[in-house]
Amino acid sequence: MVFRPASQPIHAAIIAWILSNQAASAETPEYFRRVIDEAGVSLVFYDPVREPRVHRGYTAFRLDMFYDASFQYRWEDGAAGRRVTIQTEIGNLRYRISNRVELPQYLDRDDWWNNSLVRHEFDHVAMTVDPRVRMLFEHLCRNISPITRRLPRAAPVNDAVIKAIIQEEVERRYNAVIDLLIANEHALDAATGHGSRRLADRAAYFRSLLLEPNLKEHDFPFLAEVKDLLQTKAYQEAPLPYQ
Ligand SMILES: [Zn+2]
Repeated sequence: MVFRPASQPIHAAIIAWILSNQAASAETPEYFRRVIDEAGVSLVFYDPVREPRVHRGYTAFRLDMFYDASFQYRWEDGAAGRRVTIQTEIGNLRYRISNRVELPQYLDRDDWWNNSLVRHEFDHVAMTVDPRVRMLFEHLCRNISPITRRLPRAAPVNDAVIKAIIQEEVERRYNAVIDLLIANEHALDAATGHGSRRLADRAAYFRSLLLEPNLKEHDFPFLAEVKDLLQTKAYQEAPLPYQ
């Protein structure tokens, strides 16, 4: 089960509690240690008797993206208003990812990973660190320019206005990629009955995510802009994080 990205950062107290937990002990298999590390996973155990839930496991992710933008702009006034053209270069993209996995208390034991529910939740987590997610962001941000906007005739045009327009354009792309990721997370639940059924071919299933048919299926709004990226060897053969 997957939520939309949390609107609040995961509280530091929870992270501190998790680090004191035995979740990533020396015996934890390499795959889980790597995913915990890369995807900023915190494991939280709840009491299924006192807090019964619809699904036994929950995973919520938060993906923050930071960037620097340099820009130039000009505008013309016409009958229809003020037409602004912006040339921008987006660089220095940074990401911060965190995943919160909630599991029933009876899984709080040394071999917690050796359980099909845990493995299912970690498939959700692994999807957030699929390198193709970042490649999509980066490609869309690199090719964002030029941006044109029609403003009212007397509208002020200054750095603050321009930065806000650039931010809007970056956010549209960010939201498109996040929406695609969430659609794929839900599709995984549908395909596996929330982890109660095995995928027939795991490798093929995860490889097929984020490729052209998958983007088409979910009406990815920037398909035309990423078509060339989808055909590259780097994208087609990107090393995937799945178990
Ligand atoms: Zn699920």
